[in-house]
Amino acid sequence: MCCYDLHSHSTASDGTLAPAALVEKACAAGVNVLALTDHDTLDGFAAASVAVAGRDLCLIPGVEISVSWRAMTIHVLGLSVDPGNRELLEGLRGLQEFRDWRAREIGERLAKKGIPGALEGADRFRKGSILGRTHFAHFLVAEGYAASVGEVFKRFLVKGKPGYVRGEWASLEQALGWIRGAGGLAVIAHPARYRLTRSKLRDLIGEFREAGGVGLEVVSGSHSRDQTLHMAAVSREHRLLASCGSDYHGPENTWVELGRLREMPAGCTPIWEADAWPATAGT
Ligand code: AMP
Ligand code: MN
Ligand code: MN
Ligand code: MN
Repeated sequence: MCCYDLHSHSTASDGTLAPAALVEKACAAGVNVLALTDHDTLDGFAAASVAVAGRDLCLIPGVEISVSWRAMTIHVLGLSVDPGNRELLEGLRGLQEFRDWRAREIGERLAKKGIPGALEGADRFRKGSILGRTHFAHFLVAEGYAASVGEVFKRFLVKGKPGYVRGEWASLEQALGWIRGAGGLAVIAHPARYRLTRSKLRDLIGEFREAGGVGLEVVSGSHSRDQTLHMAAVSREHRLLASCGSDYHGPENTWVELGRLREMPAGCTPIWEADAWPATAGT
């Protein structure tokens, strides 16, 4: 049996392990097929693929695209994308520009609430081109404004809190266009996290499929057992391929481990059994 982990982050976005260290960790954890899926960037892939040379690990180039859908932020994974695809890279560059604008905005809003220097502070935790809320969280924890990253989000960075800025990300159609144009498979990441009503989830999946999406992340490091079973049923009902990924961000989050995932529930069609799955990647 092959061990798949199709959702992970490196320092190219908001993970804490460099791509090469992530690859090493995946090998040590017994992962056979790893997708590197940094937020809105493919920058980590080159270093990760160098690190994979000579190892018994299949590395899948991926990306986790931030999407705005009905005033919400939804994450869509592009698996097995061509990391050199021009339109994809240009699309991601637009999202990175929005991130930079948003970061300045977050910095100003926090300053008004008596927290100076947050933009520069967050930037010190950034190791790649992506500046995200996690970097702000690391800064606020380091400065003693909160005890944990989770607490920072709750108190400062989510809707209704002082450092919250509404996302203006890609549309579902744009994200799916980029992913498909780059030869990738589109998967809705951690679907239970959005707390959608049944009918909204149905609408999202309808639009996602219409735009060419094929997969649902049934097994996720952020899904409970019940959520996994629910999403398994949803994937069967809507004939979506089932994906699995830890959403690993680094060893600091001790409750999520690379490759350590719940079993794929029975009756789902794993995405690696799809015809479009890259032939070299496991099975
Ligand atoms: P961003 O894409 O910059 O808006 O940041 C989203 C990232 O923040 C997610 O991918 C998680 O890594 C992290 N994040 C979001 N919510 C939380 C939370 N409640 N606790 C810890 N990390 C979170
Ligand atoms: Mn993240
Ligand atoms: Mn996500
Ligand atoms: Mn993720």
